[in-house]
Amino acid sequence: MYELVIIGSGCAGLSAIIYAKRAMLNAVIIEKNYNGAGQITESEQVDNYPGLYAESGFDLGNKFREHAKKVGAEFINAEVIDITNDNNIYNIKCSDNSVISARTVIYAAGCKHRKLNIIGEKELIGKGVSYCAICDGAFYKDKTVAVIGGGDTALSEAVLLSKTANKVYLIHRRDKFRANKVLQEKVRSTDNIEIILSAIPMQIIGAKNVESIDLIINNERKRLCIDGVFIAVGYVPNSNIVKDMVDLDNNGYIIADESGKTSKNGFFVAGDVRQKQLRQIVTAVSDGANCVASVERYLENLI
Ligand code: NAP
Repeated sequence: MYELVIIGSGCAGLSAIIYAKRAMLNAVIIEKNYNGAGQITESEQVDNYPGLYAESGFDLGNKFREHAKKVGAEFINAEVIDITNDNNIYNIKCSDNSVISARTVIYAAGCKHRKLNIIGEKELIGKGVSYCAICDGAFYKDKTVAVIGGGDTALSEAVLLSKTANKVYLIHRRDKFRANKVLQEKVRSTDNIEIILSAIPMQIIGAKNVESIDLIINNERKRLCIDGVFIAVGYVPNSNIVKDMVDLDNNGYIIADESGKTSKNGFFVAGDVRQKQLRQIVTAVSDGANCVASVERYLENLI
């Protein structure tokens, strides 16, 4: 039995395993995607992590992994499907039917892409509908694409796509972006990005591949011809499997302060799946470190 199981190998989980190994805990990290480093790998460039200006997200994720391996991290490649607690022991059931037991858990399972849930979205995933410009943007060289959303991700993706695509429509449902001002300035000054505000996506159309998108603008239905659509409308926390174990807020995020302590003893939460003000790499790695400090105190029966 482990002293600690960390679930999720994004920034928060990798930070946690580094701190856990340095604290000489008998710990393991479970990763759903082999050699994964979470959402960070979808960022073209990270400009806000102190000391690492203009680092690619993919490279930074790999550096976190390499660091974890250097301090002796043990990785298990499996998808966790259920967690139960019996007599203060956590039993973590995986999709291959294996069960991993531990005295404590740091849950760092992150978030998944929010869907628009409109007609054509599900049907055309991988055929022009994408949730990751850095992964799929290269397929749209000299083509016309749309990006949906008004946050940091949507605007970053529009800027990234504008470098290869011929034309980028940036479609947002309100008349104001929530993305940071630097990104807003950048999209406004990029010639091949056309901003369409107050537009509600209704349907994605295409026989085999995406051909167009229907929007409602000023109560009128309009059709835009496009070759691909990048949906960047935020994230949904991966908290479903623990919803009966720990307290969640109304949006499904696990309630905890920066100590990572949840409503369940010995169960800690780190990274984007935690209720928090700011979801960034810098806050995710801090969560991982703080959780390990809490785990140590818990194992010493101090909390
Ligand atoms: P976000 O900030 O939650 O923005 C989601 C956007 O999608 C919002 O503009 C929202 O519109 C729109 N939206 C939501 N549901 C929609 C729907 N059903 N139909 C149409 N539009 C919809 O998500 P995000 O941009 O992915 O960012 C997530 C977090 O990561 C944020 O904390 C962000 O700051 C961070 N992040 C940071 C960076 C960076 O620092 N460079 C880069 C990427 C992400 P409304 O505005 O009307 O609500």
